Amino acid sequence: MLKLHRCLFSLRSIHQLYRSKSTNAYSSEWILPALQQDLEKFSSLNPLPISICLIGDPHLRRSNELVLNLKDDFVQAAKLRLHLALANFRRKNGFGRGISACQIGINLSMIALNLGYGPLTLINPKITWSSSDTITMWDDCMSIPRILVKKQRAKSISIEYTDDNGNEQKWNELDVSVSELLQHEMDHLNGILNIDKPFKDDNANGKESIISMDQYEKDKNYFDQQVDYTIVPTV
Ligand SMILES: [Zn+2]
Repeated sequence: MLKLHRCLFSLRSIHQLYRSKSTNAYSSEWILPALQQDLEKFSSLNPLPISICLIGDPHLRRSNELVLNLKDDFVQAAKLRLHLALANFRRKNGFGRGISACQIGINLSMIALNLGYGPLTLINPKITWSSSDTITMWDDCMSIPRILVKKQRAKSISIEYTDDNGNEQKWNELDVSVSELLQHEMDHLNGILNIDKPFKDDNANGKESIISMDQYEKDKNYFDQQVDYTIVPTV
């Protein structure tokens, strides 16, 4: 019995250790200088802006195929186009942390991120755990410009993905900022847009769940008081 107890205890310790091994996605450790260089070269050879699909474009609703061969020329070009679209958007708008491939008309399971340290790619990402704790927030989307949607998201998630070198990576129990972003991007990979399921507060008293950015900017405090989390820009 004592042995079993000890065994269970050590299993629990290992589990706790694993669960607490949280990776900070803001860290620059994930940024590859090679990707940055490839992007600069690609950018100089492709000076035309890459347009972002807007709501109504069928690419946003199609299923997205898993990337099977990362070295494929089409996949490599798609990846660089995606990063370039994100970089252009950030330069033009002063915000933007992530974009999914379907948003530039490429239906592959791929997300480009820039969390303030440089470009990194999540290939075939999936959510492996979601917290039961939730947050509410005003969510925006590059494909639905100047519209904010009140959303409820898990406060923390864990994900698995393939990195630019083809290695499997795990980010465990991410902070709220990266978690809400990745839930938004992962929805894109499933053909879901933020307007599909706005959060409806039981005590809404006629408060709207979908508003224009103009309206929000006019009365920021009023709208911020309706949610418990506000996005922090990284540019
Ligand atoms: Zn979006």
